[in-house]
Amino acid sequence: MAKKPKGKTTMKSEPITAKHHDPCAMCGKLVRHIGKKYCSHDCYINTRRFTFERMVERFWERVQKDDGCWEWTGATSAAGYGVFGKNTKLWFAHRFSYELSNGPIPDGMFVCHQCDNPRCVRPDHLFLGSHKDNMKDMCLKGRQSKGEAHSRIIKRARHHAED
Ligand SMILES: [Zn+2]
Ligand SMILES: [Zn+2]
Repeated sequence: MAKKPKGKTTMKSEPITAKHHDPCAMCGKLVRHIGKKYCSHDCYINTRRFTFERMVERFWERVQKDDGCWEWTGATSAAGYGVFGKNTKLWFAHRFSYELSNGPIPDGMFVCHQCDNPRCVRPDHLFLGSHKDNMKDMCLKGRQSKGEAHSRIIKRARHHAED
């Protein structure tokens, strides 16, 4: 049997450091309870709530603004259009951008690209088109993505969400 080390080592209280008390994943304050991710219930709730403001914030984080096109750097659909969102809720990036600056897209209308760059979300490169315009293959068959390798889009969107 090994000789017991001198002095009690168990339950030795260690200094409170950031190593043990991680910053709140939401607000960055040190969390009081070891092993918890959030400092308060409010912070936890806030991460669950996908607020519009946060959505807009996250949207622009993924846009590379340039002199020309503002390119979407996040996930794209099989057709090359930017998509973003969470889990089963997915939006097309250019449609989202259009609505941010112009308000809701009227039913049955499509958001087309003047620049022919499907990843572009620059509002002044976008215009509303009719079904006829769409048939010229200039725009995207709007709305939320159905069909078209949907699960693949989700997977990629998730991947980007975890970045
Ligand atoms: Zn917090
Ligand atoms: Zn453009």
